[in-house]
Amino acid sequence: MKELHVFNSLSRQKELFTPINPPFVGMYVCGPTVYGPAHLGHARSAITFDIVFRYLKFLGYKVRYVRNITDVGHLVNDADAGESKIEKQARLERLEPMEVAQRYYNSYIEDLTALNLQRPSIEPRATGHITEQIEAVEAILANGYAYESNGSVYFDVAKYNEDYQYGKLSGRDLENILNTSRENLVGQEGKRNPADFAIWKKADPEHIMRWNSPWGEGFPGWHIECTVMSTKYLGTKYDIHGGGMDLLFPHHEAEIAQSNACNHHLDTDDRDEAKYWLHNNMITYEGKKMGKSLGNAINLRGFFSGIHWTKLQDHMTVKEGMELRDAQDEDGENFKEINLLSQAYTPMTIRFFILQAHYRSTLDFSNEALQATEKALKRMNEAIKRLQGISHKGKMLAINEEFEKNLSSFLEDVKEELNDDFNTARVIARMFDTLSVINQLYKESKNIFAVNPDTFDKFRNDFLAVYQDILGLRAESEEAEESNDLLDGVMQLLIALRGDARKEKNWAMSDTIRDELAKLSVKLEDSAKGTDWFLDK
Ligand SMILES: [Zn+2]
Repeated sequence: MKELHVFNSLSRQKELFTPINPPFVGMYVCGPTVYGPAHLGHARSAITFDIVFRYLKFLGYKVRYVRNITDVGHLVNDADAGESKIEKQARLERLEPMEVAQRYYNSYIEDLTALNLQRPSIEPRATGHITEQIEAVEAILANGYAYESNGSVYFDVAKYNEDYQYGKLSGRDLENILNTSRENLVGQEGKRNPADFAIWKKADPEHIMRWNSPWGEGFPGWHIECTVMSTKYLGTKYDIHGGGMDLLFPHHEAEIAQSNACNHHLDTDDRDEAKYWLHNNMITYEGKKMGKSLGNAINLRGFFSGIHWTKLQDHMTVKEGMELRDAQDEDGENFKEINLLSQAYTPMTIRFFILQAHYRSTLDFSNEALQATEKALKRMNEAIKRLQGISHKGKMLAINEEFEKNLSSFLEDVKEELNDDFNTARVIARMFDTLSVINQLYKESKNIFAVNPDTFDKFRNDFLAVYQDILGLRAESEEAEESNDLLDGVMQLLIALRGDARKEKNWAMSDTIRDELAKLSVKLEDSAKGTDWFLDK
């Protein structure tokens, strides 16, 4: 496509992207609830919107990207009952709730940095916007779309539905919503209607995170923070709202309702909080949903280290390269544990794996799939190195028209794919299509150069821009491997020189080598097999 089109969950179709206030673009993405380590699902959502952020900037837009941090209000069962996710973790770890939030926020950012994500423009926290959330609840009450019940305030879905349409984003009708929410009534006694949701919750005596409000001590409901923080930093009407598909209902549906109930412009059709709603799909493991109870919710740290021990379950297939071990539970029951990862995967392998699928399709991972990705990425990185090394200065030209065409249209081809709802999968396919040209140019560049040098220079710049700036890839692991190889090569040389010195009984020389290396924390260990070296830090 010649111009950017995005799939809008609101209209359920691809739409031409026209920002409200060009060249400015406002984008709000729901960030994590920081009560545990980040997993592959977090990575997919963050990478999806990192691509949107990068590509919009590449197109020349000035993007304000807001991604919130949920540090209060998100209850264990995602509805209005149960313990706070953060407070529960705080109890388990014997920490302050804010210590839990800080700990997992830090590790989230570290993991995302390893995946080469660009930081958003603003990262607001729910606890930093309590006043604004109370004001929003007051406004919704004043407009008649909420009611107070025993210290909690609930959003009145039926009342809202008289004036607006609750369910327009998720495509559910109210009857359907009412039927599904009836199943889970525990802790929801104050509601007039099971479909209603809390916008302010009364704090039980044991609840730690609590604030004064016109309705007594309590804390905000989970959905209200996003309405408030998006409005505060992007205005009541802005361009893009993003998040995982699991947030579409009830979280995003509730956000739209709250926003309309707050602003209350019944006289206009143009009243949805954000213009385009983008949702990334989920990741499965060998065709199954990922979840704690299934034992397959692997943290990013697990992928980076290659370690994810979990109880062996019936749905798991033990494959070559997977380790098993015996374990015992608290009651002394024996069971088998399996390491679901047969090796470690670098952050760039994970990033590339996620980019190889379009963000709206489900993505299934397995060790085999990740290993295939690792190989593909290696091929790509080798080609990048060659591309950077190709020199065409003063070479004889014999233009190969097919090459010429392939290379000169590269960036336009890539943009066509990205303009089609950020199709990174097809961008990567386009890149692989040019690898053979790169390889051939590299081989032949010593004799002839088959494309116009200007075409080549432009292609090289474009290819690197797509690789680094738009897809956000970098050759970190290879560099690390290379410097390790180099260090080992130098060490083998020193070890051989020391061996020669010893043979010649030049003890002064051999001792100098050993002592000087020791000062650099390099230790040598002699054995019958030879000399080994290791870093002793
Ligand atoms: Zn949100």
